[in-house]
Amino acid sequence: MKIAVIAVQGAFREHIQALRQLGADAVEARRAGELENVDGVVIPGGESTAIGKLMREYDMIDPVRKMAADGKPIFGTCAGMIVLAKRIEGEETVHLGLMDVTVNRNSFGRQRESFEADLEIPALGEATFPAVFIRAPHIAAVGDEVEVLARYRDRIVAVRQGNLLATSFHPELTGDLRLHQYFLNLAKESVAN
Ligand code: GLN
Repeated sequence: MKIAVIAVQGAFREHIQALRQLGADAVEARRAGELENVDGVVIPGGESTAIGKLMREYDMIDPVRKMAADGKPIFGTCAGMIVLAKRIEGEETVHLGLMDVTVNRNSFGRQRESFEADLEIPALGEATFPAVFIRAPHIAAVGDEVEVLARYRDRIVAVRQGNLLATSFHPELTGDLRLHQYFLNLAKESVAN
């Protein structure tokens, strides 16, 4: 399984490590050519305005949209989730505009710049998931096709829409690899189809 991690800004190295630990061939992508012949894409956390701008500059927007349309899985974490969203509260510019969600940036407020919480994510099994939130967005609204995977205090923080997966938090910063495995399973399903 070959997975490209968008490596223009943010926490991409940790995603590469997590995916490699699970046996995937994870590569850094900084230009459109590096998205060829991959089975899935991860968009890391960082700063969504910067990631979106650089992806536009390096012509990576259309190739990722095409991959999503071909059924390949795309996983956005934190800023990556904002890059995936169709709507960003208070902003006109969207980036990939793929996922039918409205995101609210920096929703947990300044006094809660970062925190950790154990989340129930039934799709991953019974054990709670250690979720690290860093100036995290949340999902304010979802379309009919979107499945809510987890909430934190009534706020939606993990979602799936077919081959698109997104979390408000950073699963690459803890040792729990279940979300990366879940994403790789989507990639295996898409290769089989
Ligand atoms: N708040 C950041 C943004 O809007 C995301 C923070 C993160 O990825 N840890 O891009």
